Amino acid sequence: MDLLEPTLNMQISTTKRGILHACGLPGVLPGMYVEPKMTTVGSQDTTGPMTRDELKDLACLGFSADLVMQSFCHTAAYPKPVDVVTHHTLPDFIRDRGGVALRPGDGIIHSWLNRMLLPDTVGTGGDSHTRFPIGISFPAGSGAVAFAAATGVMPLDMPESVLVRFKGGVEAMQPGITLRDLVHAIPYVAIKEGDLTVPKKNKKNIFAGRILEIEGLESLTCEQGFELSDASAERSAAGCSIKLNKESVSEYLRSNVVMLKWMIAEGYGDVRTLKRRIASMEAWLANPVLMEADPQAEYKKVYEIDLKEITEPILCCPNDPDDAKTLSEIGEEKIDEVFIGSCMTNIGHFRAAGELLQAHGGQLPTRLWVAPPTKMDAAQLTAEGYYSIYGKVGARTEMPGCSLCMGNQARVADKATVVSTSTRNFPNRLGQGANVYLSSAELAAIAAILGKLPTKEKYLDMYKSLLKKKDSTYKYLNFDQYSDYVESAKAPAPTRLRATTL
Ligand code: SF4
Repeated sequence: MDLLEPTLNMQISTTKRGILHACGLPGVLPGMYVEPKMTTVGSQDTTGPMTRDELKDLACLGFSADLVMQSFCHTAAYPKPVDVVTHHTLPDFIRDRGGVALRPGDGIIHSWLNRMLLPDTVGTGGDSHTRFPIGISFPAGSGAVAFAAATGVMPLDMPESVLVRFKGGVEAMQPGITLRDLVHAIPYVAIKEGDLTVPKKNKKNIFAGRILEIEGLESLTCEQGFELSDASAERSAAGCSIKLNKESVSEYLRSNVVMLKWMIAEGYGDVRTLKRRIASMEAWLANPVLMEADPQAEYKKVYEIDLKEITEPILCCPNDPDDAKTLSEIGEEKIDEVFIGSCMTNIGHFRAAGELLQAHGGQLPTRLWVAPPTKMDAAQLTAEGYYSIYGKVGARTEMPGCSLCMGNQARVADKATVVSTSTRNFPNRLGQGANVYLSSAELAAIAAILGKLPTKEKYLDMYKSLLKKKDSTYKYLNFDQYSDYVESAKAPAPTRLRATTL
């Protein structure tokens, strides 16, 4: 990382500190035009062919951005003939220019790209949910993404920031409250304060075009942090930064170094790019320093959300991710189908759902779709017996990737009422005329078991069974703690993917 230290003592937020760092500028204020260095760039498969055309127009023969990654998560499960052609041709195009190409079936772009990030750096991506949990990203169209990949910088008019501060620390979260409920608490509170309205006509949205900065949950893992930053897309925010502590970021990078070394052993490339990123991660780990916001940093608005006051799940109602309501406000709505998947999920969610389904035991009155974010999650869930549980209750397991969240591949039944852990519930996205509630995986699993949304009391009662196995359920996929990945990292050579805990 050859970034310049800021020299002007301005009262700026963490995000702006990061941007000026990436620009080599002494200071940056909202409205300023800047060209931050793009350290990491992501391209997904539906926009990838357009980005490829733009790169050809730019006569790009080699990427200037330090790491460019291409995924195939949107089209792998149910590809059209044109997608199959893309699967066969785009990887070589990306690798020939020094980029990293994933493979169809590997899983969701963000669940991979997040594991390649460097702290306090800036990036972009062609997917609107390119919302880094460390550093910051500004998602963009295929043209801007191609420009960023080719030149290593991106033009940016610096947005203002809105700060959300959760009060009380993670330990103040009430029993049964999940991070997804905190995600939905942000629009819930903004609606109450009159800064966000649900109807499209004369809509107010304080987050639109601004940077959402989140504080007060510093001990979250980076995987957990992404749940909050990912949903900044639904707020129409330009970007998001979440403050995490040094221990969380170090834990993530130690794991990610092993994952990148394992990727090399598995034949992924470009090898030079992966090795360069490993070296940068190891350099950060040798001297782990994170940027801090100035105490008097200015924001458009500061929201303080007391974690003790969130005492029941918060969902987003059909069909608008801004329409946040508590479970009690909604009532016992009948549910036809449930989807557990998307980039909003990680392995802990699938274990939690599995535990609830196992406690239930019988067949489900609903159709349940299960799609883990990556093939590594699927392998580990299989090794731990969770796929056996999903199968016994009659769930439909999908290839790791975007699955139903993508919208125009597999579909729920017409006019079905659905609970989904996906990012958004715009009309007709999951199915024609479907009514979709967004919720946590835990509430989604309970709705799948009951065939309806539970009362608050029923939910809290069923959630209790998860508390007994909390530590093993919410254990994240730290590759440095799994022997197969560690062995590959030590001796790079092709290996088979098995998942055995050290
Ligand atoms: S899971 Fe959904 S939101 Fe996430 S990258 Fe895929 S389609 Fe986009």
